[in-house]
Amino acid sequence: MGIAEELRGKALELGFEGLGAVALGELAGYLERVDERERRVPLAKGGYDFMRGLARPERHFPEARSLVVGILDIGRYRIPTGAAGLIGRHYLFDPRRNPRSPEALMVSELTGFMGRLGLKAAANENPGIAPMRWAAWKAGLGVIRQNNFFYTATGSWKQIVAWAIDRELEMPSPPAPAPCPEGCGKCVAACPTGSLSGPYVMNMATCVSYLTNIAPWEADEELLRQMGGWLYGCDACQDACPFNRAGDGTQDFPGLEETARKARPESILAMGLDEIERELAWKFFYIKKESLHCWKLNALNVIANTGRADLVGTVRGALEDPNLDVRLKAAWTLQRLGAT
Ligand code: SF4
Ligand code: SF4
Repeated sequence: MGIAEELRGKALELGFEGLGAVALGELAGYLERVDERERRVPLAKGGYDFMRGLARPERHFPEARSLVVGILDIGRYRIPTGAAGLIGRHYLFDPRRNPRSPEALMVSELTGFMGRLGLKAAANENPGIAPMRWAAWKAGLGVIRQNNFFYTATGSWKQIVAWAIDRELEMPSPPAPAPCPEGCGKCVAACPTGSLSGPYVMNMATCVSYLTNIAPWEADEELLRQMGGWLYGCDACQDACPFNRAGDGTQDFPGLEETARKARPESILAMGLDEIERELAWKFFYIKKESLHCWKLNALNVIANTGRADLVGTVRGALEDPNLDVRLKAAWTLQRLGAT
């Protein structure tokens, strides 16, 4: 048995949904796609630089010759109580930086196995070293649909992991899933902010995931309303997709019920920033340490948009918050709740 077969067999034995490989040369088309996207949706200077940086894994790992790409099925997990419509699934079940994640263990075991096969490998971490969805598609593991998410035959609730390795491998691919039906557009219609305005056309600056995780202060009044009940991330364009029919999973993700309880808007407002860092920021790491007060801004926005009149007392408490932006947002939320 060759290295490729051994590696793939081990991945499937560990519980990966799929494993494939792609030569670095196959990433060339990705840069063209980023250029095309910039022409269609220009962003402030530097908006696409991070994406361009992903196209050359050899910059991070000079011996890289190809990428091995693994697919982990997170659709098997049950969404914790109260987290549906509040936190995006990819963030809930993210294996990165989470030692309790079964998928983190699977990734670490496969990395060790690569070493035993004599492969030199560098894992994709945060920030990444490769364009993951593109690599997974080029490795023949599925398709990128019109909402820009990667799908296998069983939908988009997947985590993609990748390693740059020091040789080229060939692995067989499963049959490609059917393309999006002509004229479907359900994902575009479901996008609450109009960020996804057409097939493969998405404006990162107005996407709820970007606004909640990276830059909540960039949302104007209209966008803040359109963000609805999302606290961290957004699944609307995936939830609406007919290829995600499977619904909620049946297995519990270790420790997640407790974390999800801490991520409820009323819990966030009751915590100090040190507690938010301890309880939430280690897992939901896109909100940086220097911006931890954004958890409170997001919580207040959810309370305003979902009309949580039962939380007026909690919101009043935030009028005393040490952070001026939080105090102002609390006053705005009370106004929105008609409780001034
Ligand atoms: S994640 Fe949400 S806001 Fe972003 S494109 Fe999809 S539906 Fe629109
Ligand atoms: S909702 Fe329709 S158009 Fe959008 S990704 Fe799914 S199948 Fe494709």
